[in-house]
Amino acid sequence: MSDDTSTINQEQASQLQVRRGAPQTFYDLTLDELTERLAELRQPAYRARQMYHWAYQQLVSDYAEMNVLPKSLRADLAESLPLTHLEPVQEIQTDDGETIKLLFRTHDGNHIETVLMFYPDRVTVCVSCQIGCAVGCSFCATGMMGLTRNLTAGEMVGQVVAAARRTRGLDRQLSNIVMMGMGEPFQNYEATMKMARILNDPEGMKFGARRITVSTSGLVPFIDKLADDPLQVKLAISLHAPNDRLRDTLVPLNRRWKVRELVDACRRYVDTTGRRVSFEYCLIKDVNDSDETARELARLLRGLLCHVNIIPLNPTPAEPSYERPSEARIHRFAQIVDTAGIPTSVRYSRGVDIAAACGQLRIEHENAAGVGGA
Ligand code: SF4
Repeated sequence: MSDDTSTINQEQASQLQVRRGAPQTFYDLTLDELTERLAELRQPAYRARQMYHWAYQQLVSDYAEMNVLPKSLRADLAESLPLTHLEPVQEIQTDDGETIKLLFRTHDGNHIETVLMFYPDRVTVCVSCQIGCAVGCSFCATGMMGLTRNLTAGEMVGQVVAAARRTRGLDRQLSNIVMMGMGEPFQNYEATMKMARILNDPEGMKFGARRITVSTSGLVPFIDKLADDPLQVKLAISLHAPNDRLRDTLVPLNRRWKVRELVDACRRYVDTTGRRVSFEYCLIKDVNDSDETARELARLLRGLLCHVNIIPLNPTPAEPSYERPSEARIHRFAQIVDTAGIPTSVRYSRGVDIAAACGQLRIEHENAAGVGGA
């Protein structure tokens, strides 16, 4: 895969991360890695399990609260292996408190955002996997930033733990993780899957793999790789168009992997895993919302175990000419796809009044604070 532009981007992002010296934290370590680290400090293996319990079930935010550990060990670890370097800098609530956006500062002065969404039957956290994004979808605020670097597994785990703590404070429990924040998870595949493994560990958070959804804009080789991964996370595809002419303009990655290749990879994924694929379709007025486009979408996905989520556009500064279609058009489009036999829902992105489009909170914060990022 050495000629894949995506792989080059992934390598570049990882090199940047190494150059900038992303320091290791507790949240970066699998249970085995933590056990090894503690063995170097002459600590027995059961200590690692104790610490996983305190970090991921009790959700403590400080070693000082892990009072089963010797004091000297707690002090040692606070120095040499901080739980996290993420620093909470802002929280914004909207939708009558049903959406909470959390903004964090990273050790190198960048900002990432995490969105918590409360529903009657579930609480979902939307996690960022990169600072910025190299894919550059034409409707996306994050795409405007370019890519600064990949996040580490620990920086992703840290977002989830902070969200779980915030949720528990409201007497609710975090039930789903979607990798749909800033960045393209398959350009940071290893760290994303490591995050899923850490959170899935039965000694820690025990987060069911099928409650974790990884979303991609279409890096085909990684769809096959995910299908072969023993961890049964769910797959979502940011599709947005049923043909190459349209998708080339919306998702530049489509110039490398065409719609047909993408859907074929999804068919292989379903054949291998038996799991359903979700297709996200951002509906944009007079761009991809016609009756004929809806029929073409239904034809493309016919016979595939899948579900389509129609997401009416939240206008962003990325492309001011893009508008949200009327309610009548949104429902007509969804109805055509659904009645053609493809299960379809309309989902409104949360937090329309607080810069909810992916990446927008970070842009607004950095404009206000005058700090650098991408
Ligand atoms: S929509 Fe996703 S993949 Fe596309 S530019 Fe935005 S963050 Fe990147």
